[in-house]
Amino acid sequence: MSERIVRCRVHNRLNDPCSGEAVDPDAELLICTRHLAEAQRLIAEAMGRAVTPASPGGREARRSHG
Ligand SMILES: [Zn+2]
Repeated sequence: MSERIVRCRVHNRLNDPCSGEAVDPDAELLICTRHLAEAQRLIAEAMGRAVTPASPGGREARRSHG
């Protein structure tokens, strides 16, 4: 039985491919533990943003016309 090593598909800012090993070679998201942790952080950040939207010039209180 040959176990293939699947690399992380994340590229850094310099567009260099990550050399880490994907956590799950069969998963749709091929990502290493380091980047998985980063993704988790981003999710937490996005969730926090969703709760308290800080959008300048966003939707303000709508005017009821009439
Ligand atoms: Zn990675």
